[in-house]
Amino acid sequence: MIDFRKSHRELGGSFFAYDLDAMSAHLKALATPGLRLWYACKANPLSAVLECVHEAGFSLDVASIGELRQALRAGVPGARILLTGPVKSTAFLQLAFASGVRTFVAESRAQLEALQALALEHHCEVDVLLRLQLEWEGAEKSVLGGSGVSAFGLSPEDWGVLPEHSQLRYRGVHVFQWGNVLSVETLGKIWDRIAEEAKNFAGRQGFALDVLDLGGGLGISYKNPAEKIDWEKVRALLPRVRELSGAGELWLELGRYAVGPFGSYVTEVIEKKSVRGHSFLLCAGGAQHLVRPALVGESFPARVLEADPGAPKEDFFVHGPLCTALDRLGTYSLPASTEAGDLLVFAQTGAYGFTESMPYFLCHDLAGEIVVKEGQTKILRPVQSAENWLK
Ligand SMILES: *Cc1c(COP(=O)(O)O)cnc(C)c1O
Repeated sequence: MIDFRKSHRELGGSFFAYDLDAMSAHLKALATPGLRLWYACKANPLSAVLECVHEAGFSLDVASIGELRQALRAGVPGARILLTGPVKSTAFLQLAFASGVRTFVAESRAQLEALQALALEHHCEVDVLLRLQLEWEGAEKSVLGGSGVSAFGLSPEDWGVLPEHSQLRYRGVHVFQWGNVLSVETLGKIWDRIAEEAKNFAGRQGFALDVLDLGGGLGISYKNPAEKIDWEKVRALLPRVRELSGAGELWLELGRYAVGPFGSYVTEVIEKKSVRGHSFLLCAGGAQHLVRPALVGESFPARVLEADPGAPKEDFFVHGPLCTALDRLGTYSLPASTEAGDLLVFAQTGAYGFTESMPYFLCHDLAGEIVVKEGQTKILRPVQSAENWLK
């Protein structure tokens, strides 16, 4: 158990806390024969999180040079790193080759050319997965593109006839367009469709589908954290996906589902006020530390630390300190007695928290980050004030 009050006092400001013991137990229980698990670093690239994920048997999926450097610093060998992302700069690809990365998700024909040139330079062959962007019925949206047109990959037709590059082994297909899916039935439908499309694509192109990479997208509930995807049911979908696709191996690149539930964000109520009939709690932290509510309109679950569970409740608009009405963390039913000095604890913030946010706007302090490992609390980064980065 993390003593949030004590850590808040020691750090002197808002912070994220990650329970690595619970994270590690969760990750180890996901191991499944015939399924290769990758961790999508963008969910949370904190060094201690990468170490935990790697120790639990995951390989790492990186989508920027910063994530690649962080993965290498965490001791992950290049052979266990995969590069994805619609934009792969020359510097990014060069560092990947020099670090022994040999597996790439190609998102365009230009990326195939770049991979071939670098593989020749490094006298090596590389495994390539081709990212497909499929058309889906309906108009559902997703930050991963959903049924809309996005910059990720190419449609099966856009790929045309694949060039025969001497150093590239076309090994598989990657498809990922739907994020935060909570229904196993929906996942099953998405994956069945992907399996069929991947099989047809590989067949038309004339390569054996060794690998089908289904991306990420397994959800966690922001309304009720106790509502969880049953991993056994996810596992039970895989034989059918294998059969429909004919793929030798299935891959998943998990982000949110791997680490989201194991993070908390703690911030202090600075003031309570009533405006035009609405009660507000105004907090030290807001979108500068947690931008997701402003981006996707979904709040993280929150509670007041040390509150009496039976206390009468009131609806509050909970706001951060940025001078924009967008900085609303959510509308919550919280004890009516909540006041300045109380601490709010937001759950499910282990993914898409610290690095997804907008820390520089209005020159507030950076949130601290602490971890609990083997029962010990450790400060990885103290709260930092703006003079550390303002020029
Ligand atoms: C973001 C991302 C993931 C992880 O997505 P989650 O929904 O967090 O599981 C996996 N693969 C790629 C290519 C991504 O961009």
